[in-house]
This record gives sequence, structure tokens and C-alpha cells, in this order.
Amino acid sequence: MRRHRHVVEHARTLAARYGFAEVATPIFEFSDVFRRTLGDTSDIVTKEMYTFTDRGGSELTLRPENTAGVARGVIGGTLGDRRPFKCFYAGPMFRYERPQKGRLRQFHQIGVELIGAAEPLADIEVIACGAHLLDALGVLDRVTLEINTLADEQSRRAYRSALVAHLEANEDALSEESRQRLRRNPLRVLDSKDEGDRAVLADAPVIDAHLSPDAAAFFGTVCDGLASIGVAFTRNARLVRGLDYYCHTAFEFTTEALGAQGAVLAGGRYDGLIETMGGPPTPGVGWAGGIERLAALVAETGGVEAPPRPIAIVPLGARAEAAALGLAQRLRHEGFAVELTYRGSLSKRMKRANQAQAAAAIILGDDELDRGVATVRDLDSGEQAEAPEAGLSEHLARYAPGR
Ligand code: ATP
Ligand code: MG
Repeated sequence: MRRHRHVVEHARTLAARYGFAEVATPIFEFSDVFRRTLGDTSDIVTKEMYTFTDRGGSELTLRPENTAGVARGVIGGTLGDRRPFKCFYAGPMFRYERPQKGRLRQFHQIGVELIGAAEPLADIEVIACGAHLLDALGVLDRVTLEINTLADEQSRRAYRSALVAHLEANEDALSEESRQRLRRNPLRVLDSKDEGDRAVLADAPVIDAHLSPDAAAFFGTVCDGLASIGVAFTRNARLVRGLDYYCHTAFEFTTEALGAQGAVLAGGRYDGLIETMGGPPTPGVGWAGGIERLAALVAETGGVEAPPRPIAIVPLGARAEAAALGLAQRLRHEGFAVELTYRGSLSKRMKRANQAQAAAAIILGDDELDRGVATVRDLDSGEQAEAPEAGLSEHLARYAPGR
């Protein structure tokens, strides 16, 4: 949780700096919310949703992603009517996948959505915010930003025909899954990790030849904008998003450092989504990052600041034990982290203090109580000092620099 929180807190802080206000949407929705927005052919809808029927007979699904829920809130007005609408979220998502390292059935995402702006400047800022977060987490040099355009509908249609022609000519070499995709959602074949498919894809046409002037200009503006603020990227003409409502900009930050599950933060533009859901035509762009994968990457590259080390209290004898609780509470109210040792001999309790990674131990016995002092042992140097009860907090301050 410490690493998890580290990721979320940096994201929350940075999102606010870019004007994204935090929201929370329901963890389950009517299944249709996802089915309609993600498309019948997406991996999520065909294989990964956790769906159940509630007592009233409604079919519900644990959210596999958050964009659809945000869009529903925007359409219904529960998220206000500001345009552009800019939000940040963090929370659990659920997908029935084959569990493995970096791929969980309950995982967590942070994300931003910018709804109601069709300008490429919105794409640039959304991507810049993601890059800024990765930089703040200290992992930007471990990731690559890949970007592509899925253009507008007309360009995409032309490209789809060219791609289908190529894939059909090589159908024998395609995997079963890709053959199915070829029929239902051919762009998704580009996503395949199958080796045979990759070979066919190596000389597949790319979208560039089919871009309308508008789509080409849009993509050019996004690329130039990113370059102008020093956000490094590479073009990946095979990058598509798994979800059907994406258009224009698609991007993904990936890393080699986490093995097979290399995508840490990904997103794109989804101008068709809100209309698909029955709202007015409304453009949007956003991203989602996998918290577990980001946390693992942070751990790889130096990790997260350790929590403050506590002060242990080691009472010896019944009188001291009775006094220890009051002392612990007094110090906690003053802002110290305190670990009370509950039982055993001096050595047992000192062992416990060390296990708790205490910076110092206050040793209290009858003799100390009689004299109104406490013995403070520095657990790193082993040095011992006596402090008067009244001056104890002052003496301990050196062990709690962040207090
Ligand atoms: P992948 O190609 O790894 O399946 P995806 O395209 O399904 O990813 P998105 O829907 O774009 O992923 O979700 C955004 C981010 O959420 C991913 O880049 C990843 O970091 C994280 N993520 C997605 N699915 C999982 C999962 N099952 N377990 C952990 N993290 C995940
Ligand atoms: Mg997936």
C-alpha cells in the first residue's frame, strides 16, 4: 500500500496541477454501459467482464475500466456540466484474465479524462500530464512513449479495407484468433502478439497513406506539440487501442523492465464514445495507468521513502508498564510514532523494538520512575542517555526529523 499510495498521491497532485478534479464513479454499472461502449468484439466484453444478476434481475458488471462510467456521469449530469470537463480518478477495476505477474483480476488504475475539447492541444496536455507523472515517479527514463493516429472515420475506413486485403491474402498464416478478428474487428489484428501474426503484420500497410488532410494535420499538431515541450516519443504505426471508441491519437507508455506486461499507462482520443452512449456528440481524450505496474516500476528504480521510524517504549516491571501507556499516548499526541512493547524480558522487548525498526528505545524501570527520568537508547549507535521526563520530547526530537 505504501508504494500504491505513492503512485496515487503523485498522480493526484499532478492531475490537480493540470486542472483535473478528482471524481469517484460507481464500482459496478449496468452491463450495457460497458457492452455498448467497449464494443461486442473487444477482449474485455468477450472474455473479461465480471457480470452478475442482482436481486432485482438487473445485469451488472464490475467495472473493467473507468471511462464509460465517467462518460455516463457526464451525460447524466451527476458530474456537473462544466465543459471542458476534466477529471482524475483512482480505484479498483476488474477483469477476468489469466492471472500472472503484472496481470491481476482486481487491479487498480489512475486516470484522467478531458471531455468536451476537440482540439489537439487537449491530446498534448493529456499526454504531457502522463509523462510528467512518470517523471515525478522517477521512471520516465525506463519507459518509451509510443504514439499513433487512428484518424477519423473516413480515413480509418479506407485503411481498414487496405489492411483487410493484406490480411486476407495471408490468412493461412494467421492465428485462429486473428482470423476471427479479421472478420469482426480487423484493426485489432495489429495488436496480436502471436509470432505468425507478427510476420504477416511486418509488411502490412500502415494508416499513413490513407489519412485525410484533417487527420494528418491533427496528428502533426500533436507530434509537434509534444516535441516542443520536450516529451520524447516514437511513432508506432501498429499501435491500436483495445477499445472500439478510439480515434485520432492513441498512445502507450511501455517498459522493458517488467517482463511481458510492459504497458504502464495508455490512452487516446474517444470522440465517438458519448454519442454511442446516447449523449450529444462530445469529444474526449484521456488515459489510464496501471497502479500495480507503476508501483513495481518505482520499486525497481529506487523505491519509495521509508515510513518514519518509531520510538519504542520498553517498560520493566508492573509500575513501569502502567506508566508506559500514558507516556506512549503523550508522545503520539506530540506527533511521534510510538511502538509499545507488550511483554517479556528486557532482551525480548529490545528485540521487538528492533523488529519494529525503532530509531530509539525508552527504557523505563522503577529506578527511572523514582527519579523522574527515562533512559533513551539509540538503536543504531547503541549509545544510551538519560533524559528528564520534562525534557523527553526535546531529547527525542532528533529521532523524528519529519515530525
Ligand atoms: P494489456 O495490453 O496489458 O492487456 P490493456 O490494453 O488491456 O493492457 P488498458 O485497458 O489500456 O490495458 O488499461 C490501462 C492500463 O491498466 C494498462 O496499461 C496496464 O498498466 C493496466 N492494466 C490493464 N489490465 C491490467 C491487469 N489485468 N492487471 C494489472 N494492470 C492492468
Ligand atoms: Mg488487456
